[in-house]
Amino acid sequence: MTAEPMSAEPMSAEPMSAEPMSVATDVLVVGSGAAGMYAAIEAARGGAHVLLADRSLIGRGGATIMAQMTVAAALGEETPDDWQHHYADTIAAGRGLCDEQLARLLCQQGPECIRELDQWGVGWARKNGHITATMAPGHDRPRCVYVDFINTGPAVSKTLRTVMARNQTIRKAGDLCIVDLVAGDGEITGAVAYHLGTGAPVTIAAKATILATGGLTRLYRRNSASTNMGGDGYALALRAGASLIDMEFVQFFPIGHLAPRLIGMDPIMWDPFRYKLGGQLLNGRMEEFTSRYGSDEDGKYVLTRDLATYAIFKEVEAGRGSPHGGAYLSFEHCTPASLREAFGPVIDRLAANGIDLTRMPVEVAPIAHYHMGGVKADASMSTEVPGLYVAGEVVGGANGANRLSGNAITEALVFGRRAGRGAAERAKRMALPRLRAQDARAAIDLVCATGDARKSFNTAAAVAQLQSVMTDDVGPFRTATGLQRAFAEIRMLASGLGERPPGHGASFDLERLEWFDLRNMLAVARAVVESALNRAESRGAHQREDFPKMLPQWQVHQSVRWRDGELRVSGAPAAAAAAALAS
Ligand SMILES: Cc1cc2nc3c(=O)[nH]c(=O)nc-3n(C[C@H](O)[C@H](O)[C@H](O)COP(=O)(O)OP(=O)(O)OC[C@H]3O[C@@H](n4cnc5c(N)ncnc54)[C@H](O)[C@@H]3O)c2cc1C
Repeated sequence: MTAEPMSAEPMSAEPMSAEPMSVATDVLVVGSGAAGMYAAIEAARGGAHVLLADRSLIGRGGATIMAQMTVAAALGEETPDDWQHHYADTIAAGRGLCDEQLARLLCQQGPECIRELDQWGVGWARKNGHITATMAPGHDRPRCVYVDFINTGPAVSKTLRTVMARNQTIRKAGDLCIVDLVAGDGEITGAVAYHLGTGAPVTIAAKATILATGGLTRLYRRNSASTNMGGDGYALALRAGASLIDMEFVQFFPIGHLAPRLIGMDPIMWDPFRYKLGGQLLNGRMEEFTSRYGSDEDGKYVLTRDLATYAIFKEVEAGRGSPHGGAYLSFEHCTPASLREAFGPVIDRLAANGIDLTRMPVEVAPIAHYHMGGVKADASMSTEVPGLYVAGEVVGGANGANRLSGNAITEALVFGRRAGRGAAERAKRMALPRLRAQDARAAIDLVCATGDARKSFNTAAAVAQLQSVMTDDVGPFRTATGLQRAFAEIRMLASGLGERPPGHGASFDLERLEWFDLRNMLAVARAVVESALNRAESRGAHQREDFPKMLPQWQVHQSVRWRDGELRVSGAPAAAAAAALAS
């Protein structure tokens, strides 16, 4: 196997042979959401040749393209604002656990990225010539910019794709799923990929590698993201020796769309409706219920996400849920004219789905939406493993135990840009990529392995089972009993997985791909469950029904590492760690 010097030619679309195709680049970016694309642009600006690889279509595979709403940045064009106000709100929302350095960068540099996207033609909504901003829960003033309330993510994605298309030093390769990073002499020297179109392995030698693979919400049965969000980046980083932090903090969005069926729209789209029009949350008996849980909305949207999630869960538990197991959200008090004035084209999209909000409520329920935890990184987005950088949602710590609305796209832009810069600087210091054949061998063998025909392990059923376990026992409300049950189930699924994937590496072999997915999902699920089991308190997105209070001794980050084939969670206060060991 050789690592060929980088050329500006696109990757061959020809089917690959069983021998690995080998490419080399200065900077490898894995994942082409906002973080990956901004990273690629910035690395290219820094003089690097870049290969941007994605398991899906470039710029269309992750959460960025699905986000329809808002991006938080203290531009202050309409209402005076300053990054420090944004920072104060971010820190308060994070319940004492934000990595202050990362949170500061997010807030301080968000406006620059927003303005750069503006110059690139993203089309932020304007009023009287100023970029306009809207209010969102947890922000002390209108701070969230948008394109419109249905196209913000697609516009960000399209703008970054257009900028990349003008840059000859960025090569793009879709349908390329990275299955393992390659390490040699203690640093990351590239990666091994599974080319979905042919089933063949590809080795990519890189002077610096950036993971921008997004979040993990596919671990849950009901989630707002795409099927690519099984947490690949966390698992890749773990196996490569990096630490994950804050893995217990999975954000659930309380009023995710539940029914009727809604096609082509963001399942969390009811948030802007509530900002603008209030709306009423009702239980299955059409009764207002939030006042029973300490909030009287009275037509206004004042209910916090954690309280709304709790109230809906408890109504369903008490047998007072809506038919599909959630609550009703009603805008029946609104006139057709007021709905159209507030949401224009969105109303037509709803009509295409058979939804007329003036005549019917919709059903909503909490939905897994975002992950606050992730790979530990410093201010240059460098991980503890030399040569490995991270960007976007895969980074842990900036948002602490709870994320503010609009901070995720800002995080993707700011951290993407920083990672691209850091990776290009590293690439400049190195003469050649250093990937050695022997270091990539195990991963190549895995991609090339012939599956065990005698073994009947249904990967799709196992993914569904894992999602049920995570939803039932590792949702927003947790107990030691449920978490221990989840832990046992995950171990059982892991033992069924075996050592090699099924099939023979045929073209678009989804069962084989699912095996690789499951391998990652199980590792990441364990990291979430073990961290949640340890954390014997309630904080932000992690609510323990058996430990309902937030405790000062738990204002600490837990980290997860992979050592000798086992996950090790550390960081719990000494007494708590001893209790967890004893249980
Ligand atoms: C429905 C929805 C609405 C949202 N709305 C908002 C909002 O209004 N405001 C806000 O701030 N945030 C919002 N968020 C969150 C925000 O969109 C994400 O946090 C952010 O876009 C993440 O960007 P990213 O670049 O880190 O990852 P993503 O955009 O998720 O991209 C990750 C990419 O990595 C690729 N990938 C994954 N694994 C591999 C692998 N092994 N090999 C190769 N490629 C891989 C995926 O295919 C994908 O293209 C929303 C999220 C969702 C799901």
